[in-house]
Amino acid sequence: MPHITLGETQITCPDGEVLLDSLLKAKLHIPYSCRQGLCQACMLRSLDVTPPAAAQIGLKDTLQRQNYFLACRCHPEQDMHIALPDQHGAAVTAVVINKQWLAADILRLIVQADSALSFYAGQFINLQRTDGLTRSYSIANLPAPDHTLEFHIRRLPQGQFSTWAHDELEVGDTLTLSHAQGSCHYLSGNPAQPLLLIGTGSGLAPLYGIINDALNQGHSGDIHLFHGSRDPDGLYLVDELHNLTATFANFHYTPCLSSADNNLGYRQGRAHDLALTNQKSLKGWRVYLCGHPEMVRESQRMAYLKGASLRDIYADAFVVGGGQMP
Ligand SMILES: Cc1cc2nc3c(=O)[nH]c(=O)nc-3n(C[C@H](O)[C@H](O)[C@H](O)COP(=O)(O)OP(=O)(O)OC[C@H]3O[C@@H](n4cnc5c(N)ncnc54)[C@H](O)[C@@H]3O)c2cc1C
Repeated sequence: MPHITLGETQITCPDGEVLLDSLLKAKLHIPYSCRQGLCQACMLRSLDVTPPAAAQIGLKDTLQRQNYFLACRCHPEQDMHIALPDQHGAAVTAVVINKQWLAADILRLIVQADSALSFYAGQFINLQRTDGLTRSYSIANLPAPDHTLEFHIRRLPQGQFSTWAHDELEVGDTLTLSHAQGSCHYLSGNPAQPLLLIGTGSGLAPLYGIINDALNQGHSGDIHLFHGSRDPDGLYLVDELHNLTATFANFHYTPCLSSADNNLGYRQGRAHDLALTNQKSLKGWRVYLCGHPEMVRESQRMAYLKGASLRDIYADAFVVGGGQMP
């Protein structure tokens, strides 16, 4: 059983257990969130041996070469001396400057970073509480001169971070922000390319940012947004999005309700079914998919079968992993 040393502490990591679980069982203070290698919140650094290759998948080459690895993906093969990462990229402090409810369970959280943070609207950031609890949230706004960032946080029943953010986090409180990650953002350089954006629930957050970025940059191709929810409460920013359709002829918005209880004139059905089933071809389109992991997976497959190139499909599955404490 490999021995793992972190600072003054030495633990063992049993066969079949990921290092993150062993570290958390030993009550070590390791940030983590999705536990699936996506959010990179649990990144650590090996100070001696090369980490297992599987624990470095998804990290930038530069980080891999410096022996950074993800604890949630690491089955140690030998003894390791490890350390919490240095401040790779920007990690900044931000103060909460506004809280507003966009729907009963969707909080619009506006924070102001204490220094400039480089990001594209639609990327995600790991937000960390003072006690280390960390979760990923997508950025819904464009970079602003006052360093403000907007997040849409959906309340999950018994969700540690989201219920705390809704109920206890106050204007004036501080959070630590990681550097921005992910490739789900607008790409300039092909302004006539048609865009299809499909999101469920707070999956609208990155899409709202991407749409505003595209329109702001004068994107001339058609932009189609399908936003889905089970019930009307989950559809938010409806007026703002309708206003955008009135201002930009190339922007098209379809709010979709999957429950039968739909007397509000919204399209009836699941957003990705409505967006993709009758679509003849997505050859040459760029597709953005954000929200429920199952919807994202199914839509990726459908979009590919409709002709979208894999390199033109950008997806952020809102994987929820924090509940599985060892
Ligand atoms: C790339 C990325 C981007 C994201 N962007 C957004 C975004 O923009 N907006 C957004 O709202 N979310 C987003 N998420 C999801 C977000 O990171 C959190 O996972 C989410 O808010 C839930 O965190 P939580 O701490 O509230 O819930 P957790 O405490 O992590 O719990 C998750 C769920 O598990 C349940 N649970 C907890 N403990 C247990 C247990 N012991 N047994 C069984 N079930 C349990 C809870 O009831 C809850 O429903 C994103 C995720 C990723 C990976």
